[in-house]
Amino acid sequence: MITKEIQIAAYLFASILFIMSLSGLSSQESAKKGVIYGIVGMIVALISTLLSLNIQDGYIYILVAVVIASAIGIIVARKVEMTAMPELIALLHSFVGLATVLVGFSSYIDPATYYINKDLYEFIIVLVGFSSYIDPATLLLDGAELSIHMVEIYIGIFIGAVTFSGSIIAWGKLTEKISSKPFVFKGKDALNVVLLLATIILCVLFMRETGTDGMIYLVIMTAIACFFGMMMVMAIGGADMPVVISMLNSLSGWTASASGFMLGNDLLIVTGALVGSSGAILSIIMCKAMNRSFFSVISGGFGQEIKTGKKMEGTVKSITHEEAAEILNDAQSVIIVPGYGMAVAKAQYPVHDLVEKLRNQGKSVKFGIHPVAGRLPGHMNVLLAEANVPYDIVLEMDEVNPDMPETDVAMIIGANDTVNPGAQEDPSSPIYGMPVVEVWKAKRVIVIKRSMAVGYAGVENPLFYKENTDMLYGDAKSSVEKINASLK
Ligand code: NDP
Repeated sequence: MITKEIQIAAYLFASILFIMSLSGLSSQESAKKGVIYGIVGMIVALISTLLSLNIQDGYIYILVAVVIASAIGIIVARKVEMTAMPELIALLHSFVGLATVLVGFSSYIDPATYYINKDLYEFIIVLVGFSSYIDPATLLLDGAELSIHMVEIYIGIFIGAVTFSGSIIAWGKLTEKISSKPFVFKGKDALNVVLLLATIILCVLFMRETGTDGMIYLVIMTAIACFFGMMMVMAIGGADMPVVISMLNSLSGWTASASGFMLGNDLLIVTGALVGSSGAILSIIMCKAMNRSFFSVISGGFGQEIKTGKKMEGTVKSITHEEAAEILNDAQSVIIVPGYGMAVAKAQYPVHDLVEKLRNQGKSVKFGIHPVAGRLPGHMNVLLAEANVPYDIVLEMDEVNPDMPETDVAMIIGANDTVNPGAQEDPSSPIYGMPVVEVWKAKRVIVIKRSMAVGYAGVENPLFYKENTDMLYGDAKSSVEKINASLK
């Protein structure tokens, strides 16, 4: 057992480690250190929470939960492919949401009910984790304190349920179990407004009840919040998914904070606020980078019209690996634009060899990285660093776009939406207004992909029909290997 003072000191120490972790994660060189700070912070937080609780025989439940959860976590983390990381993150966000909903309900259960339904209550507590192991005495609140606690419960459950259902849908969209196309219907915005009003009215009714008589309002609100979260993410088009994921990340932070308020746990409040605010900042940065309205994305595409894009016309030319190697042999400057296909094919290693060969021939080679290329922020940078591609030739979209007209060859490896000229040329395109890598401005364009299939956003790409574009069909890894073999 530790005293309250030691616990506060440990929480403060853990909070500082979490802040250092976040700052470490902001650059590739310090990312490893950042992860270690995070792990140490979490260990300090868990041990100090455990030692401060008067759990007695409850420890056994906690230990069983920790062992089972750790085993699942280790297996899943070892098995998961880099390309499937966002799906796993979306699923984990849904757990945070669900935990907060359960904490909310268990917080609402009256101490009298606690004694009647002790087994059920204990089951919920084990499910949501040790930090929620509340001493029933703390539930004996009255007056203003009780009202504040009720509001905390109501808001906490609302955000938790939105995060839970929204994250499940995001997981479905990322795993392609649900279509990535936006699901919208007439009157969606009006329905959202009505649901929001209903949530406020239910809150007033809930606050007027005493004991657990308001449970019915809480249950109805939870159902509405789940529906709201579902519709919010269903309405988001493929290209806006990165913003939604970062927004759900932020929401999961706020839900953890809400749990902290319900449980009177300062560390949860601080940690949740850190995740919530950093996620919100990332969402705003991503919205700016994608030229999207933050409000429109977080409100599930509120007020947005449905766009389908122009029908494609023209012919598509394809070339062989030998011809592609010939074009590269003749070029002096090359910009490589990688995308999701490079990640799936694990083509970063032959791409590294290609770069070495071209640089050894005295050519200028650069990479142009779109902020949402692949399936998670920084996806391409991580893969290229893994293959030892020098950092100084890996540039951002805004850095390579001005050089495009003077570039001999733009080589696209498994990218599609992020190089779609329709984003600038076709106002009817669903991705119109999104900044893209302007590869079509280069003298020649080689696109490596397996077919004419669309990318994540499900939008046709006029780039493939441009006069200066040649398609090289095939798997990214084997195509680049074959080009390497044919290069001088
Ligand atoms: P896209 O998803 O637009 O396109 C990838 C292309 O890769 C496909 O058209 C596919 O064509 C091709 N491909 C797939 N497998 C292979 C393979 N083995 N070899 C060669 N090519 C292959 O990728 P981008 O990176 O351009 O764009 C990312 C998209 O994902 C954006 O719409 C973005 O909004 C979204 N997104 C991004 C997230 C992020 O945080 N970065 C998160 C969630 C979504 P084919 O089948 O013909 O081979």
